[in-house]
Amino acid sequence: MVSKSKITALDRCYKSKHSITPQRMVVIDALIDQKKAISAYDLRNHLDVIGKKLNIATIYRILDFWCSLNLVHRISSINKFIFCANPNEKHTHIINCCQKCEKIVESCHKKMGIDFSGGIEDLGLQLASGSHLEVPVFCASCR
Ligand SMILES: [Zn+2]
Ligand SMILES: [Zn+2]
Repeated sequence: MVSKSKITALDRCYKSKHSITPQRMVVIDALIDQKKAISAYDLRNHLDVIGKKLNIATIYRILDFWCSLNLVHRISSINKFIFCANPNEKHTHIINCCQKCEKIVESCHKKMGIDFSGGIEDLGLQLASGSHLEVPVFCASCR
């Protein structure tokens, strides 16, 4: 069965006129299957195990591609990647990353009660599209 996440990914490729290559699909499939954020190297090992070998440079390039479509978030504090929990969220995506167990709870600025609009405009800035914010947290089981 094709998951909803995969349909979203295919649809976004199609709408942005990017081609859907087998390698891109292998990477996004693997990411959708993950319950936790995963590093590029762990992803490579995972692909090795399931018989879909890709080299690390290719994996990074493909991860960049999916990040640029806002379907994957790179969590810089732990240098890992995760499939976006809510790709159709129009608000700024907030990645709450547990500093102990690396559990990720994704939210948006509205839900988190953050309003940047005023401050950003005062500074003459505009939020880059697709940017997300990381908030270091401790999850319910780790705090
Ligand atoms: Zn997201
Ligand atoms: Zn935790």
